[in-house]
Amino acid sequence: MHIIITMDLKPTIIIIEDEKEIAKFIDLELQAEGYNTIVTYDGVTGLSKFREFNPDLVILDLMLPVLDGIEVAKRIRKTSNTPIIILTAKDNVEDKVLGLDSGADDYLVKPFSIEELLARVRAHLRRVNPAVTGEVRVADLVMNLDGREVFRDGRRLDLSAKEFELLEIFARNPGKVFNRFEIEEKVWPEYTGGSNVVDVYVGYLRRKLELDGERRLIHTVRGVGYVLRKE
Ligand code: CA
Repeated sequence: MHIIITMDLKPTIIIIEDEKEIAKFIDLELQAEGYNTIVTYDGVTGLSKFREFNPDLVILDLMLPVLDGIEVAKRIRKTSNTPIIILTAKDNVEDKVLGLDSGADDYLVKPFSIEELLARVRAHLRRVNPAVTGEVRVADLVMNLDGREVFRDGRRLDLSAKEFELLEIFARNPGKVFNRFEIEEKVWPEYTGGSNVVDVYVGYLRRKLELDGERRLIHTVRGVGYVLRKE
């Protein structure tokens, strides 16, 4: 059993819908139910906000400007099993099949009842109980703990066992500063302290995490140790 560490216990839901009236309506209803919400009006912005905030669920319109819903769902699915509920105005079988094949979990045909949408949101959020998914997500980093796989913005990282263990400690505790001794004790209990193994391995991890020029995730805290921060 693994537990996701999140900074805020309220689930976050991203709405990607270009019809602003509908987006606003869903947004208000979800907020009234106590969810955090992010609203975007096109596929590209939606995808970039998805990567930035790692929401718990996606409500995705199919007909979107710039990048359509099918493509957005496919790209999300490359790195994440976050539930996706598709909204479609087109009540035909091809669109539903296409939507579900692209990786979406569910669909609703417009006009839909808000109560039905809310019920499905609850059902899908229950399904992705973190203890079941075994996934840790921070910023654009996704760690699949069961499959021992790591992705950064969709790019698969090839980590050694020790690198994975080290990254997991940081990813499970974003914002928490660890000193070298603490880390060494956890990951290299066979060492007696005072080695530079932590610095060496943080160096290895950074190289792999930042291979494509991505932003730094593991920061040095001078005189103390290291911390994983999103910025
Ligand atoms: Ca639309």
